Amino acid sequence: MDTVEILFIVALAILLGWALALAISRGRMLDSLRDATGAADADDIERRVRAALEEAEDARWNAEQTSHDTDYLTELLTAGVVRLADDLTVEFANGAAHVMLERRPGSMAGRSALEAFVDARIEGIARTAMEFGSSNGELTVRSNSGATVTVRARRSPVSGVWLVLEDVSELRRLQRMRAEFIDNLSHELRTPLTTISLLAETAARDAESASPRLRDRISKIEVETGHLTQMVNELLDLSRIESGTVRLLLDDVDLVKVAQTTSERLRLFAERQGLRIDLDLPDRVSPVRGDEDRLGQVLVNLLHNAVKFSPNGGAVVVGVREDPGEVRVWVKDPGIGVPRADLARIFERFYKVDRARARGRGGTGLGLSIARHVVESHGGRIWAESEEGSGSTFIFTVPVAPGGPISGDVPGPDAGADAGS
Ligand code: ADP
Repeated sequence: MDTVEILFIVALAILLGWALALAISRGRMLDSLRDATGAADADDIERRVRAALEEAEDARWNAEQTSHDTDYLTELLTAGVVRLADDLTVEFANGAAHVMLERRPGSMAGRSALEAFVDARIEGIARTAMEFGSSNGELTVRSNSGATVTVRARRSPVSGVWLVLEDVSELRRLQRMRAEFIDNLSHELRTPLTTISLLAETAARDAESASPRLRDRISKIEVETGHLTQMVNELLDLSRIESGTVRLLLDDVDLVKVAQTTSERLRLFAERQGLRIDLDLPDRVSPVRGDEDRLGQVLVNLLHNAVKFSPNGGAVVVGVREDPGEVRVWVKDPGIGVPRADLARIFERFYKVDRARARGRGGTGLGLSIARHVVESHGGRIWAESEEGSGSTFIFTVPVAPGGPISGDVPGPDAGADAGS
């Protein structure tokens, strides 16, 4: 064999080896593709790979479509929508958010919350939501329009924070107008009502020797004037509480003491209706953060109703108990009860279960509505449990005071930012 033949054989051997290695590696590749896709053979693998590529393309297209739709939708919204990253950099803000905060279109994205909003209060709400999960607030925008804007912030389950801003200037203006109207009307009504009341009182004295029929009529005028006066006073009260013009004078309040004094105040009224007031009170409970007079007013309203709607005598029980983080107060009566369907509605203003059965008991239908506003402005809850015909229990809770005693003037229920989860 000459050198050329030897070289030829060696080259042939290398070529065969390379082809063999390629075949083996291709086979391995096919094996691992079969394993990964669960395919039966090479054709099946091809089919599956093509299907996977098509699916990926569909998914990419859908994601793009969703992103376009979301952008389009948020631009259609009249509410401002802002998305912040974990470090509170604005990732996205729709047109309404720019208009509401009077920022140049497109000028917010990429800036820090403080730079973008130029308002530390909004940044504060976003920061609180980032920390605690959610936060709300209402503020007047520092701009030419001076719009009143509510800000709701929620931490995203994935990352960052979403803010939703709503311009409530018109709503607040109408609420103020309504409150002013009721305020003026109530003041206007009070003067003639006081005069009628005094006249009825004098007439009752002058009519001592008059016929029983006339005396009866005069006494009815006195009773109805009393109802009207109560309604005007409660309407005024409710309107002020609802519009947030009532300021709670917060202090540490002992609800056991409030229960004792309120029960004492209403004891005579209850006894006249043949009812006892029993107390179910612990020695002490933690103080709550609240306005003592307003919380006393809630209890007066509940006790008043308990007596009014318990025509067959028995005992009304006033109880207080401390639960984790809150103090619970309840008033249990043996009265006519509230039908299940009405339980949720009796806290609405002017709602009376059945006007026929309320006849002769007076009342405006505003007492529970006032009670609900007062309790909720203390961060508490109020509800009723009842079976028609077997009495009712009205319960409210107030959060325990955080730390030491607090006193002073604080904003009403609508103001400021609050955090929650
Ligand atoms: P009112 O001035 O009519 O008592 P409230 O707002 O205090 O107004 O109560 C609303 C309605 O709820 C009452 O008219 C009555 O129908 C029902 N209600 C309230 N408390 C009781 C109670 N303890 N037992 C039965 N019904 C009650």
